[in-house]
Amino acid sequence: MSLSQIARNIGQSATLKLNETAALMRQKGEPVIHLGGGEPKSKPPLDALVSAAALLNSGEVRYTPPDGTPALKQAIVRYTEEFYGRKLGVRQVMASSGAKQAIMVALQAILDPQDEVIYPVPYWVSYPEMVRLVGAVPVPVRTEDGRFEPTLRDIEQHVTSYTKAVILNSPNNPSGAVYSRDFIGEVVQFCEAKNLYLIMDDIYHRLIFDGRKPTSCYELAKNDSESSRIIIINGVSKQYAMTGFRIGWAASHNTKLIEAMTNIQGHQTSGPSGLLQHAALGALNGVQSSVDSLRLTLENSRNVLVERLRAFAGVRLEVPGGTFYSFPNFSAYEKSSVKLAELLLQRVKVVTVPGVEFGLEGHLRLSFCGSIRDIREGIERIKWALDPNAPNELTIGERRLVRDWS
Ligand code: PMP
Repeated sequence: MSLSQIARNIGQSATLKLNETAALMRQKGEPVIHLGGGEPKSKPPLDALVSAAALLNSGEVRYTPPDGTPALKQAIVRYTEEFYGRKLGVRQVMASSGAKQAIMVALQAILDPQDEVIYPVPYWVSYPEMVRLVGAVPVPVRTEDGRFEPTLRDIEQHVTSYTKAVILNSPNNPSGAVYSRDFIGEVVQFCEAKNLYLIMDDIYHRLIFDGRKPTSCYELAKNDSESSRIIIINGVSKQYAMTGFRIGWAASHNTKLIEAMTNIQGHQTSGPSGLLQHAALGALNGVQSSVDSLRLTLENSRNVLVERLRAFAGVRLEVPGGTFYSFPNFSAYEKSSVKLAELLLQRVKVVTVPGVEFGLEGHLRLSFCGSIRDIREGIERIKWALDPNAPNELTIGERRLVRDWS
């Protein structure tokens, strides 16, 4: 079989693969605890469901404009005004089939082969592959001191004449780190000065804890003209627990860029599903209490997870300030995160995601989007599997496990 060079270089999504493995193990009756997930377990807002059901009942589910229905675009404009303090025009926003597609189309619109895209480590698993899909070069940037928030210097040192864009994702998947306003401001100004595109992946921006407020990159930007190179990415997947609805968006002052992105998307999918856009419209225009309640639930789950991990000798953790992910360092137990994740799956049926998928060895991504019970039991099982001082026996499901390793 002859495959393209790009196809040969693209790997399977590690996180999607883990979901499959966990589902298969569950089907076989294994007492699996999934700490590798990437979606809230709550229901979508009622307004989203009612809105989609009404359209479905009417049977009027047709093609929409490739950049989204006027009503959804209007709602995105209003969202941007409320959360970013900027009033964009409807020609400056584009709805997509998930934030993922919005990012992909943005990359296709701005990158030529050989161009370089910089993003901090740890990073969302899809960035490197997405950049490769357009023949461009991913440039992950490690922080000098191993912390999750880089400095401008870390980024600056990787800029070359090929650099075209920077991607920032805060709150961050996988670390849960919320970058400081100062850092975001420095990057915004640096990109403006160097004429680089800045993709702000804000998909988790309202899932932020400890009373903090999301930082609006627009409040820190000087250029609010058509020549702006900031692209905001957001969507309904995480904040409204609507992952399966596949609606996200891009927003930018740069009308020409949004126009180019719309042309690309038009030829790829003719735009996102009309039915699901209607659901997203319901979520954006409806009662917002579900977002607050999800945030509070996640903050509580984060606290439980942090408390449990702190009692775990040898594990180092930077407390997540948002999202539903934590990224503890387990290297005191095992340096290879793939080996460690496999071992935990086999020994104690806990699914985690190896840190190396996010560019950082020795770490595991542990999600706290599941139940408190799963978080507690999951960490207890991990501890049992790793900690030589843990009791000799553990019961999971109906099975009693006896430690036969030291
Ligand atoms: N960006 C980040 C950082 C994510 O974690 C995800 C989802 N895992 C996305 C983008 C894509 O979101 P969507 O489901 O809307 O495509």
